[in-house]
Amino acid sequence: MNLPSSFLENLSEVIPALEISEYVNTLNEEVPTSIRINPNKKINTQELEKVKWCELGYYLPERKKFTFDPLFHAGAYYVQEAGSMLIEQAFLQLTNLNSPLKVLDLCAAPGGKSTHILSLINDESILVSNEVIGSRVSTLQQNIIKWGSANCIITQNDPKDYSGFSEKFDVVVIDAPCSGEGMFRKHSHAIDEWSEDNVNLCSSRQQRILHNAWNCLKENGLLIYSTCTYNLKENEENIFEFLEERKGESLKLNLPPAWNVHETIHKEVYGYRMMPHKTKSEGFFMSCIQKKEPSESNSNKSKKSFVKSHFEWKQYIKNAEKYEGVDFKNKQFIFFNDQISFLTNCLLQLNVKHFGVEIGELKGKDFIPSISLALSNPLDKNAFDIYEANEEEALSFLRKENISPKSKQKGYELVCYENQPLGFIKNLISRTNNLYPKGWRVLSNKI
Ligand code: SAM
Repeated sequence: MNLPSSFLENLSEVIPALEISEYVNTLNEEVPTSIRINPNKKINTQELEKVKWCELGYYLPERKKFTFDPLFHAGAYYVQEAGSMLIEQAFLQLTNLNSPLKVLDLCAAPGGKSTHILSLINDESILVSNEVIGSRVSTLQQNIIKWGSANCIITQNDPKDYSGFSEKFDVVVIDAPCSGEGMFRKHSHAIDEWSEDNVNLCSSRQQRILHNAWNCLKENGLLIYSTCTYNLKENEENIFEFLEERKGESLKLNLPPAWNVHETIHKEVYGYRMMPHKTKSEGFFMSCIQKKEPSESNSNKSKKSFVKSHFEWKQYIKNAEKYEGVDFKNKQFIFFNDQISFLTNCLLQLNVKHFGVEIGELKGKDFIPSISLALSNPLDKNAFDIYEANEEEALSFLRKENISPKSKQKGYELVCYENQPLGFIKNLISRTNNLYPKGWRVLSNKI
């Protein structure tokens, strides 16, 4: 592999010179495939090798065609690079996961860290998952909906919109856009796109994101900063420069030496690197900062409240007393009633795309249940007749084909594969209508 000489020079600043050839050799090796299991939609993981730093992370013996696995579409697992799963250690060691946390994932698409965070925080906690680039928000939304958690709000905002946000967070995650050195093995085009100029450009963009995020973090709150790149400029140097202007302290993690995570301290900034020649993963960097100054308060812009849903949604939901119905853009949603004022502030000040669980849409007299309801954890499966699909039927459903009815009863049915819901059909006895979202459908045929 032809690596730029200035990249190798930069690398020698972070790993011992003797390890460089070892690192270069691993770039010709196969990329490990790893998945993270959804704790609410558990699947069999017997015989799979565990990812050491992530409770629900596993390696697969080989990369399979996930498109043709209905359980992948059910949100039973997320395909994620093992190195990125290290953020679990920051949450386990530096936050109190038993308390109700407000977490912001500022650069969230396609949703790897967000779905991971949703599996770590408790039901009284909230995750706001934000992505600035419009074309990437729909994938984020799809992945969050498949994960099924009701305690997530998705926004599409520039990080600067968060600097004036009236709510403050206990944890802010910045998984920053970067020069992608850690992806050289997985995506060789990242090597061609790499340049010193791009490293500088990424570094100044990351500085901007850090400054914009800071004000919505509570005093003593935790900032988790990560990239998938190795160089100091986008990592420790960036944090050091930032902490010269803002008051915060870099925090140390306790990681077992057997994990082989590359630990550094540079200008009083603790850095944790996953290096492919040391850990079974691609490259990843993480650093944690505790905020040591108060946040400026921002007042609410308006006193307007949310619009209460008048639809009878409780029949579809387990523990319905925990939720409030909300009418948003003529669609019916539910969100935790304890957190309605937080949601209201998000709706008033940010560009909210989705929240909680969308129950469905009222069209005339008809109520059309939403995919979000089908895949959600609060769904009461007893509220619908079940269409138990085999693999072929499940794939046909995911291609949005009209599958054959099995019962002689008209109405909405929940299509399940191995007990995991995939979506809804409407049984018309002579045929069925497939309600799977058009934009989500599987386009290719199984070979
Ligand atoms: N956290 C994601 C995950 O685990 O799946 C990956 C995030 S990716 C490393 C960085 C994200 O930052 C991308 O989704 C990208 O669209 C977004 N981004 C790009 N430019 C940005 C900017 N100027 N401010 C904030 N986010 C930006």
